Amino acid sequence: MTPRAQALASAHPAEPVDFESFLESGMDAVRKAGLYRFFRHIEGPIGPEVTMRDEKTGERRKVLLFCSNSYLGLSDHPALREAAAKAALEWGVGSGASRHISGSLSLHRELEERLAAFKGCERAVLYNTGYMANVGIVSTLMDSGDEVFSDELNHASLIDGCRLSGAKKSVYRHSDLGHLEELLKASRAKKKLVVTDSLFSMDGDLAPLPGIVEIARRYGAWTLVDEAHATGCLGREGRGAIEHFGLSGQIDVVMGTLGKALGSFGAFAAGSARLIEYLINRSRMLIFTTSLPPAALAATLAALDVLAREPDLPRRLEQNALRLREGLHQSGFSTLESRSHIVPVVIGEAGPTMEFARKLFEQGVFVTGIRPPTVPPGTCRLRVTVMATHTEGQIDRILEATRKIGKELGIV
Ligand code: PMP
Repeated sequence: MTPRAQALASAHPAEPVDFESFLESGMDAVRKAGLYRFFRHIEGPIGPEVTMRDEKTGERRKVLLFCSNSYLGLSDHPALREAAAKAALEWGVGSGASRHISGSLSLHRELEERLAAFKGCERAVLYNTGYMANVGIVSTLMDSGDEVFSDELNHASLIDGCRLSGAKKSVYRHSDLGHLEELLKASRAKKKLVVTDSLFSMDGDLAPLPGIVEIARRYGAWTLVDEAHATGCLGREGRGAIEHFGLSGQIDVVMGTLGKALGSFGAFAAGSARLIEYLINRSRMLIFTTSLPPAALAATLAALDVLAREPDLPRRLEQNALRLREGLHQSGFSTLESRSHIVPVVIGEAGPTMEFARKLFEQGVFVTGIRPPTVPPGTCRLRVTVMATHTEGQIDRILEATRKIGKELGIV
């Protein structure tokens, strides 16, 4: 016990928890479980190849980046950089307050109109991050006494939204329509909301959206679809999985993020004009926070222009993803049901997964090992993500490195 803890213990019969001991024992548990996390440092723009700095030696080296969500390579695209820089010079760097408090910039409205049109919805409203959007939307629409039906692999932000709302959370097995229907049938709640990622962030597979929409409709449930990883990537014009399935206009709440394929920062909800008015008036996650700054707004507007000008970008992403998945299969790796640019290489336990990632890094390839609670225990994996801007040669390099390390570690 530390001296501070001793002093506290003698002064308070209820034995208050000593702050330092609390932190220390919490971190001991993290280390023992093999879940210790730390940041790796990048110096320069996010692209297919990045410059990384070793914290201990200060040494800089170039490595291939295969774990970013900048799927179209837009985060360092010249048009977005220029738009952001120009907006910062013309509009300044901050928005100053919440839009309810000090006014909304015309850039906010312009972007919302573009996003609504992009998603085939009446109206859209911006949130600062996808995490805030999901927590904000679910907790604004749902309450105690209501019921949320959630795929077991949904993103943490949807789960946290349920928790904050106080609604009952019923989890259905991953993409299992029969199970979803069973839960809906048994529900006594009057307000029911089915929530799902459209493209699952750690597995790279698509939710069966047509079935979900049909079942939800039959049981009078509303739908919320998180298009974080599909926006900009899937569908004929890169509008997302909803476009891919021909379901535009049939989802009650569409959520998307701007910090992934669109290369910038922020998020949005889209749907009917009435939904958006409701969120603007009642969603604490957008009422009580400073709004997105001009540079981020202008960069996203430029991203939508680039996507319209270069419709080939999502196709290039698809081709690269195919090359990566096929190469991994040829080496004997499992990539689960991935059909996309998110390619899980499942290893199993945390130890060998992190060892694999470390060895890849030594070979000049940056891929992150993913462990619980992000994925279920025993399914630790390398989450390999490819970009439209990776060259075939760069993809071949990661394939060669994974094959070599997989053999060394006895995984393939
Ligand atoms: N939804 C999904 C499916 C995600 O994967 C993420 C982030 N990884 C988010 C929401 C949160 O988005 P943001 O990073 O903009 O907070």
